[in-house]
Parts: sequence; C-alpha cells; structure tokens
Amino acid sequence: MSTPHVAIITGGASGIGAETARVLAARSWSPILCDLNEEAGRTVADQLSADFLRCDHTDPEACVEAAELAMEKHGQLNLLYANAGVGWTGTADDCAPDNLRAVLETNVIGHWTMIRACLPLLRETARAKDRGPVSIVLTASALAVRPRPGCMAYNVSKAAVVGMGRSLARDLGPDGIRVNVVAPGLVRTPASEAFTRDWGLSDDVFGRYAHESPLGRIATPRDIAEVTAFIASEAGKGLSSSTLVVDCGTTGH
Ligand code: NAD
Repeated sequence: MSTPHVAIITGGASGIGAETARVLAARSWSPILCDLNEEAGRTVADQLSADFLRCDHTDPEACVEAAELAMEKHGQLNLLYANAGVGWTGTADDCAPDNLRAVLETNVIGHWTMIRACLPLLRETARAKDRGPVSIVLTASALAVRPRPGCMAYNVSKAAVVGMGRSLARDLGPDGIRVNVVAPGLVRTPASEAFTRDWGLSDDVFGRYAHESPLGRIATPRDIAEVTAFIASEAGKGLSSSTLVVDCGTTGH
C-alpha cells in the first residue's frame, strides 16, 4: 500500500480549512492543521487523529516548523493548502495605507511565507515521482473577479492571491508542482457571519444570496473542500494556473 498523502492546511481550525481537513482525512490523507486558534485547531485535529500546530503563517519560523513537522512525521508533502485569511470592511476612502498593509500581510504575504517554507519538501516529494500528486492550492474569493463595494482592501488582497497562484504555476510547474486557486462565493462560516455583520447586512443575507444564485443556494464549506480535494488528487493533474470560482454560479464567472 502506498504511503498516505500529506497536506498542510493553514486556517485549518475553522470553516473551509477545517472542512477540507475532514474531507481529505476521509480519503486517507494525513492533514496537518496550522492555525492561530489553538483550542479550535486541536479539537478538529483530535477528531481526525491529525496533527495541529499553532502557527501564524506570517511568521517565517513558525512556517518552517510546519514544514519540518511534515518532513519528520511523514517524509513528504503533497498539498499545501494556503487558506488562512481575514476580512476587512471599509470603502476606498476608509482604507489608510496601514489598513491595506495589514490585510495584505495576512491574506497575501502569509501565503508566500508558508509556501517558501514548504517549497523544499514539495520539490523533494515531486522529484521522487512515486509519492503521489504534489500541488499548492490558494484560497482567494469570488470578490477577486467581482469586487464588492465597501471592502477595498479585501478585494485587492484576493485579486493578488489569484495573481500569486498564476505566477507560481509558471515558476513551479517545471518542478512538478501544480498551483491553483479556489475562489469561493459567500459561504456560511464563523468568518462570514462576522463580516456580514460588519457590512451591516441583515441576518437573512445568506438566504438572500441563495435566492439570487442560479442554483438557489450558496456553496457550503463541503462544496469548497471537495473542489480542493479534487484539484489535489491524481484526477486533478491537468489543472494548473486555474482559478475555480465556487459560488453556485452567482458571479457568472
Ligand atoms: P474562518 O474564520 O472560519 O477560518 C479562517 C481561519 O484562519 C481561522 O481559524 C483563523 O484563526 C485563521 N487565521 C487567520 N489569520 C491567520 C494567520 N495569520 N495564521 C494562521 N491562521 C490564521 O474563515 P473561512 O470563511 O473558513 O475562510 C477561509 C478562507 O476562505 C479565507 O481566506 C477567506 O478569506 C476565504 N473566503 C471565505 C468566504 C466566506 O464566505 N466564508 C468567501 C470567500 C473566501
């Protein structure tokens, strides 16, 4: 039997990241959950008999620790799911340079910090040829392709994630590493419940978005997780440099 495939998941304690850990674990992957939220992360990891590391993905040392954990426990890394992110509410007028800097730090620089730390192990796994598929998936947002008014910094950060994915796909493809972006529409998670409140939207916003969607519903964390699991699998080996908008058709992208 081949060794289980290994995934590092940032933002793995909650929402989309936690659900992706569940989906991958159900397919016999070994997820390593990395998150700032230790209590929630350990709870999810314990349920899956998976590893948890308290890790700020903007901290280079913490990211190296995550890569070392994958190396020491498993000797390989098949998927880096760069998913951790924060929201930000405010129009262009509200957005001071420091606001933009802070959002870019978590939503863009953090991904690059973790990717850089994991590159040696991703490359080594790909070079071995017999250890399964190797890829990076980044979480952007449907707002990268259709910006929402009133959250300029967030829109910008997610457009940058799409650019990062496409750039890395060019640079890392020759090493056998595929890079793709998943861009969710509105998904009900602890984060979206908080930012829709910040946007001053009423409690029925999830129902309203569902009503406006061609499919009559919004995507669930499971929908997003299934797409990431597919991209990361052998079945996704034709995908690189792609941005998959998973929003039940709402943006029409
Ligand atoms: P969530 O809040 O449920 O989970 C995000 C996790 O990221 C949290 O556990 C948080 O502790 C962690 N995190 C934040 N900053 C971190 C850091 N510096 N280092 C490590 N971990 C950190 O949110 P979610 O809705 O599951 O969001 C996951 C991703 O999906 C984010 O990138 C978000 O922008 C994106 N997204 C969400 C939606 C949505 O509607 N929920 C839509 C589009 C895109």
